Amino acid sequence: MNKWTYFFSQKLTDGRKEMKDLLGGKGANLAEMCSIGINVPPGFTITTEACLSYQEKNEIDAEIKSQIEQYLQKLEEVTGKKLGDSSNPLLVSVRSGAAISMPGMMDTVLNLGINDQVVESISQSTGNPRFAWDSYRRFIEMYSDVVLDINSSILSVSLEDYKADKGIEEDTDLTQEDLQKLVKLYKDRLLQEAGVSFPTNPETQLWLAIEAVFKSWSNPRAVKYRELNNIPHQLGTAVNIQSMVFGNYGEDSATGVCFTRDPSTGEKKFFGEYLINAQGEDVVAGTRTPCPINNDSKNDSNEHLKTLNDVMPDAYNNLVEVYQKLEAHYLDMQDIEFTIEKGVLFLLQTRNGKRTAKAALKIAVDLVNENVISEKEAILRIDPNSLNQLLHPRINPGPNEIFLAQGLPASPGAASGVLAFTAEEAVEMAENGISCILVRQETSPEDIAGMVSSSGILTSRGGMTSHAAVVARGMGKPCVAGCSSATIHESTKTINIGDRELKSGDTITIEGSSGKVYLGEVPTEEANLTEEFNLMMEIADRHRVMRVRTNADTPVDVAKAISFGAEGIGLCRTEHMFFDAERILAVREMIFANTKENREHALEKILPFQKKDFIGIYKKLKGLPCNIRLLDPPLHEFLPTLEKDQEGLAKKIGVEVSEVKNRMENLQEFNPMLGHRGCRLGITYPEIYQFQTRAIMEAALECYEGGVDVNPEIMVPLIASAEEFIEVKKIILQEINKLKTEYPEIEKINYKIGTMIEIPRAAILSKSIAAEADFFSFGTNDLTQTTYGISRDDGGKFLPSYIEREVFPKDPFSHLDRDGVGYLVKMATEEGRKGNSKLHVGICGEHGGDPESIEFCQEINLEYVSCSPFRVPIARIAAAQAAIRK
Ligand code: PEP
Ligand code: MG
Repeated sequence: MNKWTYFFSQKLTDGRKEMKDLLGGKGANLAEMCSIGINVPPGFTITTEACLSYQEKNEIDAEIKSQIEQYLQKLEEVTGKKLGDSSNPLLVSVRSGAAISMPGMMDTVLNLGINDQVVESISQSTGNPRFAWDSYRRFIEMYSDVVLDINSSILSVSLEDYKADKGIEEDTDLTQEDLQKLVKLYKDRLLQEAGVSFPTNPETQLWLAIEAVFKSWSNPRAVKYRELNNIPHQLGTAVNIQSMVFGNYGEDSATGVCFTRDPSTGEKKFFGEYLINAQGEDVVAGTRTPCPINNDSKNDSNEHLKTLNDVMPDAYNNLVEVYQKLEAHYLDMQDIEFTIEKGVLFLLQTRNGKRTAKAALKIAVDLVNENVISEKEAILRIDPNSLNQLLHPRINPGPNEIFLAQGLPASPGAASGVLAFTAEEAVEMAENGISCILVRQETSPEDIAGMVSSSGILTSRGGMTSHAAVVARGMGKPCVAGCSSATIHESTKTINIGDRELKSGDTITIEGSSGKVYLGEVPTEEANLTEEFNLMMEIADRHRVMRVRTNADTPVDVAKAISFGAEGIGLCRTEHMFFDAERILAVREMIFANTKENREHALEKILPFQKKDFIGIYKKLKGLPCNIRLLDPPLHEFLPTLEKDQEGLAKKIGVEVSEVKNRMENLQEFNPMLGHRGCRLGITYPEIYQFQTRAIMEAALECYEGGVDVNPEIMVPLIASAEEFIEVKKIILQEINKLKTEYPEIEKINYKIGTMIEIPRAAILSKSIAAEADFFSFGTNDLTQTTYGISRDDGGKFLPSYIEREVFPKDPFSHLDRDGVGYLVKMATEEGRKGNSKLHVGICGEHGGDPESIEFCQEINLEYVSCSPFRVPIARIAAAQAAIRK
């Protein structure tokens, strides 16, 4: 026979805190508190499995029913009271409680068991008729709303009208007579307005309440909450039936909530709120202003109110003892609900308290310092992605903010600004000190200057690895990408979202962490890094095995990444170094060159720039490894799309505009992602890679001679075969050998030549490629694109609906697909190491900053992950967690 019910009391307890899946968080913790001797009103928990059975059968199964009846009897024995008894009645609360907390989403009923006889009996036995009628009034309100599903306004209007008629302000000012009248008024209203006569049999009340809690697992708000928080729908909720204790007994009774440490700052101070003569819902309902439990809990709005420590010092001291005991037992900050009945303290709930990212770090670090938890435990308690809260500004929307649209959360942070429809507009606004949001259908390398100048970026197309997403993440700038409900008209400088039209001069706010777009300026909270942030990073570094590098292309980004703890560069995308106005012109000359000589001539002009950048980067790295990728994107990306830029270029290189247009047409490709890019460019125009090799090595030599240690790694993009790699390596080595004759000291530079693995064929043939390469770096953006056959720039159009319909569990461009792409990565690593036992292997696709994907990288023993600068701290924590979990 299955066990469907678990008892908890001081003397007899079946459950434990580890049984959350079966008893829900609340049930498991009530049992645990009983077993460590804390004063909890006795009761029993009906399991989540019983809820699932109810969902399946649409009724409470006979076996479950019989166990509930037995446990109710047991509860009656333990309390010495009986449900519905006219001389010694038992009242109970019926509360939901799932394994994963879903605050306020499901239902609760208090004071169950009262009817017209029971209320009289309570009046007599307590000598407190006001209390008895107040409990009855509350019971009818709650039961009607939760169990009978009757619009709560029917009763609340009656209450408010009654109070207004009588000139009563606070519920606590209602007299016994008022409450008696209200109970009658409520019952009449229910009958008149909803045709329901209030159930008088306490057993009927109980069964209906249990069913209502089971059903509340599937109410629309609970379903939505689970969807938003990735909570599985098949868990079910437990139901806790607990004997009532009364905080509304009178002036010697109270109810409250408290935290053992501050959940917003993490500070080690006990604080909370309480109300005299009240029940739990009064504290949350906001109808009365709760009082501070102690001086530490005072703020501007409750400063004048008396503390619990002042009015009930014994109960307060008891609460202090209990909170210390609970924190020491659970080894974590607790969120506690308590009730004081006639001066006696009872605990109704404890759980690990929810907290901000800042508080999570402080609490974890403090608990290590207090010798309460180990460093490993502290690391595992941090949600790596929550660090975004500290690293980037966030929005703080009020209730009246106008939400405009939802796009992809491409790069975290929040920003407000005036709409800028072109990169030029953005640059101009920035020069005039105006904060702007660059809005583009999608960005291209030409928009870089505008992206730098803007406070945030919004695109209507493109996915999580689109140009806008990758570049914004690199810059640490907020970006909402692929916001398909916004139609951006670049020609008229307008945006249509639903029936709203925005135009030049309008302001919007974007939040890149959630993908949300708002009208106007929504207040934002600044990012701030605390001392605990750095302490936590140091702790994580002691436990991590994989190195964390960064994807960065400028000395400024490199410096930022190093300040976040990056241990080298895992990907420097050299094409990102060409978009400066002066440089792009030289690149365009290079593309237009029709002979090798002309091309070399143009490249000579770019060489000093590129060399200067490398020197800047090497200096920041001070000997840390520097992985530099040779030119990757198709050439047409560098050509001018705007008429005026085409005219400028024609003039500069002395050709007709028509020729510029012609050349552009010739370079256009049907599938640029699969076209003339990556090593294919280097093989057809070897001089491009020769010149880049020269810049890398000359810069290295200059630094070396100036006493700066350098470790360049030259990386070849997009190879599909060993032959391609061998061909490009030959080009690189020829150039290095040539340099050696010019500068014999080059011999002393420690360099490596390796490749990206970003095409399935390269992964499959990795053994033969590794035999030629010093290192592999998985370019999982392209590898995901080519394995799925989904364009990384167009996936944004349909992937969200795939995910919504659960065709794909997650966006594979954000979280590495273990089964497919991951399989290739694992196989290529193993095969590659067979081909070259010294092969150094890392990852530089966007997955290198995603905690889930980092865990996979550790499982397959990569040497490092590389990610954008602002994700370095996230990767440090995630890598430490992965090492601990392995
Ligand atoms: C990749 O493809 O994963 C990669 C890092 O290169 P890029 O994003 O520049 O194509
Ligand atoms: Mg790539």
